[in-house]
Amino acid sequence: MRTRSFWGWGWQDELPSQDERDQLTGLLSGFFADHPPRPAAYPSLDDIVLPEPAVAIPEVLAAFCSADKLDRAGHTYGKNYRDLVRGFSGDFSPAPDFVAYPENEEQIQALLAWAVAEGVTVVPYGGGTTVVEAVECSREEAPRHVTLDLGRMDRVLEVDQECLAARIQAGARGPVLQEQLAEHGLTFRHYPQSVEFSTLGGWIATRAGGHYATLYTHVDDFVESIRMVTPEGVMESRRLPGSGAGPSPDRMMIGSEGIFGVITEAWIRVQKPPVYRANASVKFGQFDDAVAACRALAQSGLYPTNCRLLDATEALINEVSGDFTHVLLLAFESSDHSLKPWMDRALEICAERKGRVATGPTFKEAGERSSSEGEGGQWRDAFFRAPYRQSAMVSLGMIADTFETAITWERFPALHAAVQEAVMGAMREHCGSGLLSCRFTHVYPDGPAPYYTFIAPGQEGKLLEQWYAIKKAAGDALIREGATITHHHAVGKLHRPWYEAQRPQLFGDVLKVIKGRLDPAGILNPNVLIRRDD
Ligand SMILES: Cc1cc2nc3c(=O)[nH]c(=O)nc-3n(C[C@H](O)[C@H](O)[C@H](O)COP(=O)(O)OP(=O)(O)OC[C@H]3O[C@@H](n4cnc5c(N)ncnc54)[C@H](O)[C@@H]3O)c2cc1C
Repeated sequence: MRTRSFWGWGWQDELPSQDERDQLTGLLSGFFADHPPRPAAYPSLDDIVLPEPAVAIPEVLAAFCSADKLDRAGHTYGKNYRDLVRGFSGDFSPAPDFVAYPENEEQIQALLAWAVAEGVTVVPYGGGTTVVEAVECSREEAPRHVTLDLGRMDRVLEVDQECLAARIQAGARGPVLQEQLAEHGLTFRHYPQSVEFSTLGGWIATRAGGHYATLYTHVDDFVESIRMVTPEGVMESRRLPGSGAGPSPDRMMIGSEGIFGVITEAWIRVQKPPVYRANASVKFGQFDDAVAACRALAQSGLYPTNCRLLDATEALINEVSGDFTHVLLLAFESSDHSLKPWMDRALEICAERKGRVATGPTFKEAGERSSSEGEGGQWRDAFFRAPYRQSAMVSLGMIADTFETAITWERFPALHAAVQEAVMGAMREHCGSGLLSCRFTHVYPDGPAPYYTFIAPGQEGKLLEQWYAIKKAAGDALIREGATITHHHAVGKLHRPWYEAQRPQLFGDVLKVIKGRLDPAGILNPNVLIRRDD
């Protein structure tokens, strides 16, 4: 049995080793010679002190609940920068009183009924990979709270081969779900970067964004129907390929971030595994040319699976390219047809905007190993290692985080300039210096979803203050320029102030009314998405 780190990203045994941390220290010292990293040892669970539980596990729930130290510590936070810093420094003051691991809906209903009767807060929990502080509760907002972990409800229950759909329990993590679908010769192909630990229910509750750069970007596009257990009863939508019957119940449950009820299962559109794959990488001397190529590709109707633009800094820090060019990673996949005409036309579009092919194009069929060479392979390795590196950076006293958004094409240049000015300015003011990079994770015919990474040297005892100053500068710039506070990281508690500025006021009132109907005692996820005292 492998153990997940109780404070950092991922598996305990995959946290960067001392050698890796030394290498990272060397790299960062090159960027920040005046404020070099300050390495400290990883914390141990033995050194952590948790608050005494404010409520004991009741007899009626005892069969599926635990107040074990590792369970409580591991469910205290999600995985954003502030979470990692608090965990690393041993602050577990908001630990839940206990953690429930239901195996069926009856147990969820029993827990909710007990919580309503006792006035105890319940936090639905999938993989705990939230980066918007959506699975934690302070003692002030919930003096007694328990975490409801869906991890034991992780089965593919039914497969419909005719319609290519599957009924899947909400607690299935990415690899667990994939493994079961593979037994039926099917696949989901929804891969957020957090795929190893995040769950189907979490993806639906947060409107997660997967690996498709175009067409099927959010999990919304794959949901056929949802089943949710609320404190007021079960709500289940009808399985349909489409429907024009009023506002969609699915759309109400997707993105509800655990405030209306607990998603227990969903019918999901699945696919036949890709047989044909095509890959290439293209380099651009000018960022504007690369952006223009992305827009043309997004509007071409070719629908590349991957259309990931890395600016020169992003390419450099991920060791994808060291020549200060901007790199576009392009890929197509299909279970049905070979992809040469699509790739050829995509490369023509890039060439028309001064793009130079750096690797490929390569064309592979099922059974042939996917290329791990070139910019694409290097990017894939860096992409899945990045969360571990972020935990290591916390142990080096660095500030390292990301934020993401979406905006229409004509406003992207102004947004990009405003973000650079605000974030670089905040890093200079609060940290002395910093690095900011940008990539496009998804592109739409009407605009890109830019994703920014910032890295800056932190000051002992002031890390969270410095981090928040940068985060606030970023959030303010996004909202000021008319972008969204999040393209796929959700709202939680962290993004709520900016979300309130973004959403229509009346819509906020409607959310509150729905919450009042489904969770009248207000036991679920207080202050996530909407303010409790609204
Ligand atoms: C390193 C890293 C990379 C990431 N990459 C991506 C990415 O590529 N794309 C992306 O979209 N996001 C990404 N995220 C954010 C995060 O992984 C997503 O928000 C994910 O969908 C959360 O799933 P989870 O199962 O971990 O949910 P949790 O973190 O456990 O919960 C998130 C929210 O959903 C609610 N919730 C969870 N399960 C249920 C349920 N069954 N019923 C009702 N409510 C529920 C929780 O109460 C909470 O409000 C990343 C995060 C990290 C740390």
